[in-house]
Amino acid sequence: MSADPGYKGNKAALPSKPCTVCGRAMSWRRAWAHNWNEVRHCSAACRKNRGKRQPERPCP
Ligand SMILES: [Zn+2]
Repeated sequence: MSADPGYKGNKAALPSKPCTVCGRAMSWRRAWAHNWNEVRHCSAACRKNRGKRQPERPCP
C-alpha cells in the first residue's frame, strides 16, 4: 500500500504520522489542517517532553 500524498476527500483515509516523542501514531485533526507538516507532538504533554526520548525512566 502506498499513501498518495495530496489525496483528499476520504475521511476514512486521513493522514497520520508518529509522534516524535512517544512514537504513537497521531491522526490528522482539523485543528492541524493549517500546520499539519509542522505538528510533531500528539499532545501538549509530549510537547513538554520533547527532547526526552524515554520519559518512563525516572531521573535519579
Ligand atoms: Zn506523543
